Amino acid sequence: MKSKIFFADARVKSYDYKYSLVAKFEQILKIVDFGSFIEKGDYVAIKTHFGSYGAHRIVRPIFLRKVVERVKEVGGMPFVTDTVRIPGLEYLEVANMEGINHLSVGAPVVLADGIFGRDQIKVKAGPILGEIGVASAIYYAPAMIVVSHCKGHIGSGFGGAIKNLAMGCISCKDHQGKAERGRIHFYEGKHLEWVEVRCTRCGQCVRVCPHKALQLVDDSIVIDKSICVKCGRCARVCPAEAMVVPIDEVTFQKGLAESAYAVVSTFEKGRILYINFITEVQPECDCMPMADTPLVQDQGVLVSHDIVAIDQASLDLINGADPLPGSKAADKNVKKGDNILKAVTGKDAQLHIDAAFELGMGNKEYELIPVTEKEVPEEEKKD
Ligand code: SF4
Ligand code: SF4
Repeated sequence: MKSKIFFADARVKSYDYKYSLVAKFEQILKIVDFGSFIEKGDYVAIKTHFGSYGAHRIVRPIFLRKVVERVKEVGGMPFVTDTVRIPGLEYLEVANMEGINHLSVGAPVVLADGIFGRDQIKVKAGPILGEIGVASAIYYAPAMIVVSHCKGHIGSGFGGAIKNLAMGCISCKDHQGKAERGRIHFYEGKHLEWVEVRCTRCGQCVRVCPHKALQLVDDSIVIDKSICVKCGRCARVCPAEAMVVPIDEVTFQKGLAESAYAVVSTFEKGRILYINFITEVQPECDCMPMADTPLVQDQGVLVSHDIVAIDQASLDLINGADPLPGSKAADKNVKKGDNILKAVTGKDAQLHIDAAFELGMGNKEYELIPVTEKEVPEEEKKD
């Protein structure tokens, strides 16, 4: 049986609020039975990505607020959350700078793994990762709504709901301060490899490291492994491929699915709702220090209880769209129907979606249910 996905197109029919993406999103949230997965008094995690200094293409606070309001309507107690990427207090400042704060979203904005990024509970993942530390505020929450901004990703080709769980719901560090989330980027026990002969000493890796784990000393790059969180940022920005993260694509993407599986296992069945925004689909992750122009035109928003179906549908919509002129997709000479994200990132996102499917996390077949306008109650029509 196909999984149901509600879909609001980003295009609007006419100059009327009821056709706006915000109004159509409200309509979907009204149709979805929040009372079926949230009980009165439940703390409900609304997991999103706060962005970064330089990356602004995140889900806008107005949409988070709509989710918060809907959770409150059924008696839930929402909190908007993400996990530590850069040092915790600085990351909360990023959230605030991006417009995500209590005043804008209508609920507390907290770090799920605490301001030191060490609050976690170990959960069984799979043969690649063994166990993984799920951020404690997510582990203990009885229900969760995962609000993802869809984009490309240098390691997984695509960042949607699976990645938002796999990376985004894992604590930055373990209780001892060692890298936890970053373990997914590396073969077990391995660390960054600096290839001296390729290095131009440009210093970009040093500047981009949010944890100050790199230094250029006496013409060499020195890595302080005791504070490195294995985020891989330095390798991503290196123009000379002189900073290497040792892992192959298949292992990384299967590890992602394992990690997402571990997060889902901490909830009772059916108590997670997924919301994917296919808007401002930039080539890279929102944790990078920049956001390039979108690859395709905004598609809209998808809502489903099926994590595999929603990511499959999101990927299909992106690859089925026309590449935007002047974008990185246009640079690659791809056309509608090509695997746009693979051409841009060099990675095949289908690998982690298939891996999640094989773990029994959801269905790759789906039915899109279009929601074209917000229904206006009769009494309001008369006003
Ligand atoms: S970014 Fe790359 S080339 Fe530049 S200093 Fe770092 S390792 Fe060397
Ligand atoms: S992986 Fe690189 S950027 Fe990330 S913390 Fe370690 S040294 Fe810094």
